[in-house]
Amino acid sequence: MAIYDLKCDECGHVFEKFVTGFLKDEDKRCPRCGSSEVSQKFTSFFGGTSRDGGCTAPPGSSFG
Ligand SMILES: [Zn+2]
Repeated sequence: MAIYDLKCDECGHVFEKFVTGFLKDEDKRCPRCGSSEVSQKFTSFFGGTSRDGGCTAPPGSSFG
């Protein structure tokens, strides 16, 4: 699943499109003016999130 952040080049309207697969051409249409001249800004994917913390604290060591 993914959320596509789209921006209409015609009216500048920014909207999100939630799709379960790939973004289709029919999804790339401005809900405000109906223009298909939309540009993709950002994509957020869901699923497969790791529960492992990226930051691991160093073992107890004292500096100086
Ligand atoms: Zn538009």
